[in-house]
Amino acid sequence: MPTKPASRIELIPPYLFARIDKKKEEVRKKGMDLVDFGIGDPDIPTPANIIAKMKEAIDDPKNHRYPSYEGMPEFRQAAAAWYKRRFNVDLDAATEAVTLIGSKEGIAHMPWAYAQAGDVVLVPSPGYPVYRIATMFAGATPYIMPLKEENGFLPKYEDIPEEVLKKTKILFINYPNNPTGACADDSFYIKTLEMAKRYDILVCHDAAYSEIAYEGYRPKSILEFDRGKEHCVEFHSLSKTYCMTGWRIGFAVGNAQAIYNLGKLKTNIDSGAFQAIQYAGIEAMAGDQSSVAELNKRLEKRRDMIVEGFSSAFGIKVQKPRATYYIWAKVPGGLTSSDFCEKLIEETGIVVTPGSGFGDEGEGYFRISITIGEEKIAEAIKRLKSFKL
Ligand SMILES: *Cc1c(COP(=O)(O)O)cnc(C)c1O
Repeated sequence: MPTKPASRIELIPPYLFARIDKKKEEVRKKGMDLVDFGIGDPDIPTPANIIAKMKEAIDDPKNHRYPSYEGMPEFRQAAAAWYKRRFNVDLDAATEAVTLIGSKEGIAHMPWAYAQAGDVVLVPSPGYPVYRIATMFAGATPYIMPLKEENGFLPKYEDIPEEVLKKTKILFINYPNNPTGACADDSFYIKTLEMAKRYDILVCHDAAYSEIAYEGYRPKSILEFDRGKEHCVEFHSLSKTYCMTGWRIGFAVGNAQAIYNLGKLKTNIDSGAFQAIQYAGIEAMAGDQSSVAELNKRLEKRRDMIVEGFSSAFGIKVQKPRATYYIWAKVPGGLTSSDFCEKLIEETGIVVTPGSGFGDEGEGYFRISITIGEEKIAEAIKRLKSFKL
C-alpha cells in the first residue's frame, strides 16, 4: 500500500475546528453541560407529512431499485412547480433541473464539470468551505473574494483584476449567506449577471437559505433576473427549509447545458438519490407549507433572544440577520476568533464557531447558530452574565 496519499488529499487544509472540538471534550469531561451554538443543523424534526410519505414510499419495492441518475421526472417537476410558485420562474423539468444527494454534492461536483488546471474559480471568504476545496480538487485555482462588513458582506467585483476575470470559469455566491447572514439586493444580482456575460462565467448561486427568512422578507432567485438562465445554476437544499439535513436531498436548476454536464458527471460517480427520499422530497415541496412559516417564526424569536443576550453581555452591537440560521458577530476585546471561542467554552460551556474556520476574512468574528431550543438559549444568556473577557 502506498504510504503517501494523492496530493489533492494533502491539499485539504487542516480541520480548523479541531481545537474547538478538543476544548469541548475537555470541558465535557469536567462535567460541565455544553450549550452548543456551533452547528447549522436544526434541532426541530422533519414535518410529519414528509415522514409519513417516506414510510409509505419505503414499503413499495419499486423504490428499492436503482433510481434514474438525473432524478425522477416527478421530483424534477415538483422542483420546477415550486420554482414557479415561489419565484415565478419557468423551468423545463427535463432539461433545467437535476436531483442532488444534498446540495453539497452538486456544489462539490460542479468545478469538476467546468474548471481545470489554469482556470480560476471565484470563491467568497468567509464562505462555505466546499467552494474552495472542490475547486482545488478539480485542479483549478480559487481566487478569494473578501466579504467585508462595510460592503454588506457582498464581494466587490471591481477589485478583481482583469487578468483573473479572463481566466475565470465559475463564480460561487451564496445569499442569504452562511456564515454572515447577509442578504443580496437586486442590484447585486444585476451586477453579477453583467460580469458573467462580459467574461463568460458560470454563476453558481447557493440558495440553501432562500426560505429561512424573517419579518416577511422573501429572498429572490438569481433566475428571476434577465439572462439568469443563460449564465447561472442555482443550488437548492431541502435540508434547511424542511429540517431534512440527514435525508440528503436537494436539486440544481438553471442553464440547461450546465445542468446536463453536471448530470453527465454524476452519472459516472453516484447513481442518484434513493427514490423513497425523492417521494418524500416531492411531498415537502408540493405539500402543506405551514411548517416553513412556523419554523421561521420560531427561529426569529430565538434570533431576537440571542442577539439581545450576546449584545448586552459583551457590550457590542450585534446585527440581526434578515435570513439564515446564523448570527455573525465581532469578537469583543481584540482576541483572535479561536482564542475567544476557546475561552468562552472553557469558562461557560457555551460553544460558538470561530469565524476564521470559514476563511481568513472570517478572522475577528464568530458565528452563533440559532438551531438550539429556547430553554438552552436562556441558560446560555444566564451563563454569559458572569463571563468576563
Ligand atoms: C447547509 C448548506 C449547504 C448544504 O446543504 P445540503 O443540501 O444538506 O447538502 C450548502 N450550502 C450552504 C451555504 C449551507 O449552509
